[in-house]
Amino acid sequence: EQDVAEYRKSLGIRVSGFDVPRPIKTFEDAGFSVELMKAIAKQAYEKPTAIQGQALPIVLSGRDIIGIAKTGSGKTAAFVLPMIVHIMDQPELEKEEGPIGVICAPTRELAHQIYLEAKKFAKCHSIRVSAVYGGMSKLDQFKELKAGCEIVVATPGRLIDMLKMKALTMSRATYLVLDEADRMFDLGFEPQIRSIVGQIRPDRQTLLFSATMPRKVEKLAREVLSDPVRVTVGEVG
Ligand code: ADP
Ligand code: MG
Repeated sequence: EQDVAEYRKSLGIRVSGFDVPRPIKTFEDAGFSVELMKAIAKQAYEKPTAIQGQALPIVLSGRDIIGIAKTGSGKTAAFVLPMIVHIMDQPELEKEEGPIGVICAPTRELAHQIYLEAKKFAKCHSIRVSAVYGGMSKLDQFKELKAGCEIVVATPGRLIDMLKMKALTMSRATYLVLDEADRMFDLGFEPQIRSIVGQIRPDRQTLLFSATMPRKVEKLAREVLSDPVRVTVGEVG
């Protein structure tokens, strides 16, 4: 126990919540599939970053998480890798449709970056990723969503549009990521986020990442996450 505390401190990790698993030191420790390990090796990611080392065992155990760490700390893989595992764990239900993993990000640039990162890791298990954001034809996006996907990466406004057009259903969604939550609030997306969360089953796993935790984001986190573990890396938060 003392060792774990020392190890966290050396990485600048602070945690709160009950029964928080110890951080992993290598990707091997995460128990990923051979295919996923190959995809990680292809990215030349030698070992998990601090946020990844602590977030991976928490998220892989099924817990909700609030992850606070600055830009460039590797948050994307911290939520994308467990999302792949989560999807592979689902029983095949032929009649079910719609994404299992839903990622909301504040801007199209960020959504696109996450989309590219998710595709790198999804490919090895033939998991389909769709991007949903402004600046693309709504009709093309509608058609792509109708064709089906397991992961959708979206800006909140365009995702609401697609839900209204019935391009997708959230009935199968069980893994929700709110990335850069503070920026989504700055951009006025709180109502859209609340609407999206309200359309996803309450027994979902929810992950919230942010560089800062303003009071409004804190309030949302309290309302939409269940017994989350809070992980802070570095001087932020
Ligand atoms: P954040 O979302 O925290 O700003 P990103 O997920 O965008 O950070 O990652 C920042 C950069 O670090 C990206 O170029 C990504 O490919 C790289 N990266 C992520 N994880 C690792 C890792 N374990 N080892 C080396 N590079 C990594
Ligand atoms: Mg990011």
